[in-house]
Amino acid sequence: VAAPKPDPGLLGRRRAAFTSAQESYYAEPPQVERGWREHLVDVRGRAYVDVVNNVTLLGHGHPRVAAAVARQWRLLNTNSRFHVAAVTELCERLAALAPDPLDTVLLVNSGSEAVDLALRLARAWTGREDVAALREAYHGWTVASDAVSTSALDNPHAAATRPPWVHLLDAPNAYRGRHRGPGSGAAYARDAVQVLDGLAAAGRPPGAFVCEPLLGNAGGLVLPEGYLPAVYDAVRRHGGLCVADEVQVGYGRTGRWFWAFEQHGVVPDVITVAKAMGDGHPLGAVLTRREVAEALAREGSFFSSAGGSTVSCVVGLTVLDVLEEERLQDAARDVGAHLRARLEDLARRHPLVGAVHGTGLYQGVELVRDRATLEPASEEAYAVCERLLELGVVCQPAGDRGNVLKAKPPLCLSRKSADAFVDRLDEVLREGW
Ligand code: PMP
Repeated sequence: VAAPKPDPGLLGRRRAAFTSAQESYYAEPPQVERGWREHLVDVRGRAYVDVVNNVTLLGHGHPRVAAAVARQWRLLNTNSRFHVAAVTELCERLAALAPDPLDTVLLVNSGSEAVDLALRLARAWTGREDVAALREAYHGWTVASDAVSTSALDNPHAAATRPPWVHLLDAPNAYRGRHRGPGSGAAYARDAVQVLDGLAAAGRPPGAFVCEPLLGNAGGLVLPEGYLPAVYDAVRRHGGLCVADEVQVGYGRTGRWFWAFEQHGVVPDVITVAKAMGDGHPLGAVLTRREVAEALAREGSFFSSAGGSTVSCVVGLTVLDVLEEERLQDAARDVGAHLRARLEDLARRHPLVGAVHGTGLYQGVELVRDRATLEPASEEAYAVCERLLELGVVCQPAGDRGNVLKAKPPLCLSRKSADAFVDRLDEVLREGW
């Protein structure tokens, strides 16, 4: 296939076609044309290592996914009401991956829809509208998933403008939050339980508590030990459901665990999953126990025209097959450990690197101007990403302060590409900040 020439007017046309809320963050984004494994290639033939794309779990352009889509599309693509094997098989495969007693799967098209449906399930099951969520989180763009999102990077006014049914708990950020250090889990849990008890005493116990079991949007922070079990206990004591949003961090990305919540020895009542599940194809799911899912019927029927379509289910099954056959969860653990060691070495040599967060192939490099005050190096983080792009690495600043470089690449990331990322970052940091 002949590569198109760069179109000098295309960026302007893109900006005219898009609204300002959809702006891309690079000053001069490359016009990318194709992807292969952890690489993106632009129309000039320039290759980049893509360290941000956690949607393409298996890697860009996976031939097995492409073949599955092409074959199934020709054969049949229809909605989940028809009786086709792939829908049932995908639900069974996912349920088998969830811990007991989570045995029921509802298929949707995206993470936002999955979170929306999880909140609706909690409302139907508990008869309550109130929801507790963590600050600094992002859970989606639909009305309900947006209501529980407070990521300041996406909306600086979010925390102050949530609807009255949303109750915010502090993000248990053991690096720069109110309580610090790996032993801060109990203190954060105590604060959270106080809020939950207060809500219950006021006659408004939350029907759901939603959080990422690894703080993806805040920069890949591992929750301090003890936090999640204590908060889950309190939510359940007041009759609510615990929702684990695994849209970004689940599906083997954390390496040792398939689901990020496993790290904390808890079992949620509801799991939301998307992104990785379809390897970029629109596919998401809610996993819960049968009795909770059955509560939906009290609110009428549930149906999504393309959610759980035949093609989507075949994609979902292929992703699970490839994940297993290519041992990508093991790769996340092993390449993740290598990447971590190299990033920690950078942290020792460059004062701008305040900390390295995360686990497996979800890591965050937090940039600070001062290691004592933790003043966020936000402008620097953007500039570092712009410079990395020039050097052939696609990386993105994240977190409420925009000062965490997130590394959440396809799980097929090679050691060589992990090294390329760290070497380029080292080079940029040596240029002086
Ligand atoms: N939950 C989390 C934790 C997410 O990071 C996102 C997307 N960034 C969503 C939900 C929403 O998913 P989607 O973009 O597929 O609607």
